[in-house]
Amino acid sequence: MSQGSEWMAPTRLLIGGRWVDAQEGERLAVEDPSRQEEIARVADGTPGDARAALEAAAQAFETWRLSGAYERSRLLRRWYELVERDRKNLALLMTVENGKPLAEADAEVTYAASFIEWFAEEAKRAYGRTIAATRPEKRIVVLRQPVGVVAAITPWNFPAAMITRKVAPAIAAGCSVVLKPASQTPLTALRLGELLQEAGAPDGLLNIVTSSHARAVADVWLDDARVRKITFTGSTGVGKHLMQRAAGNMQRLSLELGGQAPFLVFADADLEVALDALMVAKFRNGGQSCIAANRVLVEESIVDEFLALASERVAGLRVGQGLDPGVAVGPMIDAAGREKVLEHIEDALAHGARLRAGGHALGGAGYFVEPTLLAGVGLDMKIMHEETFGPVIAVSSFRTEKEAVETANATEFGLAAYLFTRDGARAWRVAEALEYGVIGLNDGLPSTSQAPFGGFKESGLGREGAQEGLDGFLETKYVSWGAVGVGLQG
Ligand code: NAP
Repeated sequence: MSQGSEWMAPTRLLIGGRWVDAQEGERLAVEDPSRQEEIARVADGTPGDARAALEAAAQAFETWRLSGAYERSRLLRRWYELVERDRKNLALLMTVENGKPLAEADAEVTYAASFIEWFAEEAKRAYGRTIAATRPEKRIVVLRQPVGVVAAITPWNFPAAMITRKVAPAIAAGCSVVLKPASQTPLTALRLGELLQEAGAPDGLLNIVTSSHARAVADVWLDDARVRKITFTGSTGVGKHLMQRAAGNMQRLSLELGGQAPFLVFADADLEVALDALMVAKFRNGGQSCIAANRVLVEESIVDEFLALASERVAGLRVGQGLDPGVAVGPMIDAAGREKVLEHIEDALAHGARLRAGGHALGGAGYFVEPTLLAGVGLDMKIMHEETFGPVIAVSSFRTEKEAVETANATEFGLAAYLFTRDGARAWRVAEALEYGVIGLNDGLPSTSQAPFGGFKESGLGREGAQEGLDGFLETKYVSWGAVGVGLQG
């Protein structure tokens, strides 16, 4: 329960279709970051629980791999409908454990459910193909088969969507799953698991180990060759660690990692469109998004006008608890998250940036930072190189298209980039030159279940959503069939 609002979610581990306590009996506290108060305690799984979850998943895989595409599709469709039915509860859970405003949490339910719906349909489209053989008496047939047991590890910033965009395609492909959600947002994950059970999932199809022992739990799954795929969303550092460890059993990998999104505004852009998009691309989830606009690069001739319009908008944003109507920006997830944002602001100011709005932490409970606008940001500042993960707009200027693209690409990350222009030819040139997996062209909200989301360079490997999202859970096998003959016999 939370401050006059009631939410529903299990607080134990889901293993083999049963809700169980952690083997060592430990529990993990869940905090509301807007009040710094404990709201629940969930089971704190350890390696023994991770092993039990894997046993259950391995057993479930033996049956589920043989299920038909239409059965998988029906299960996902029922799950989708139950998530829709539970919309209010799921939104509330996300607001109390993550801090995001209720309207945003509601939008995340829509986004999360859209992956389940999409993969309910794609389950029927795991097509193979036939290929002409070199010799006429042979046939070559390509089959798609489930990769095996999948281990999924997810972050706190999108507590529902980061789970459904992994678990739904895994189920659609015929895989079973062991999931370790972020320790800061386990309740949403557990509720999603409960809804999947209610939809009729076979025991062990999805197993959830909430835990504060991320590395030890992951090690169990990395060390067991029955896990054939690791799918991870989180920081680049942990992603690299998993990649190295996955080599031991040559496990397949999908990695959705950090970002450092540039937001390019050319003088020919529609400034209202660009500013509307910036408010979403920057302040959604308080800036704690992998595709958050981190470096706003504006053509020199319009930078003053842009800053004046942006500062009005930033000053109008209400910060506060996600359950209060009208709140646009919630808290940072924890004290370390808030510290990093403040450090980026201080570093920028120390190196000559100018504060146009905000700039400080709020007093009292909750990890709040004022929505902030910095002008005159330069390449020597941390904010231009590291993911800020907070509500800070950092504005720098450029003179030419070439300079804009070179600055935008001068990072090891390559997840999302935004580009605002009314010149169609420029739009093509720049979109093609940006070294990013997702381009928002006059669009501040490019993420959607039917598009292949993922990064270049150190932002990751593989794609989630779209047809590619299903491919990541399928192995390709071909049967070269000899001695078929040529023409009918007899
Ligand atoms: P994180 O620290 O990497 O944590 C992500 C998940 O990994 C959590 O479940 C965490 O568990 C677990 N984990 C931590 N250390 C681990 C280890 N050594 N071995 C195995 N698992 C481990 O990232 P975060 O701070 O939660 O999330 C923010 C990051 O995610 C940002 O960099 C953001 O850009 C990125 N992100 C990327 C995308 C994308 O699609 N590309 C989407 C969203 C977020 P605990 O919770 O117990 O620590």
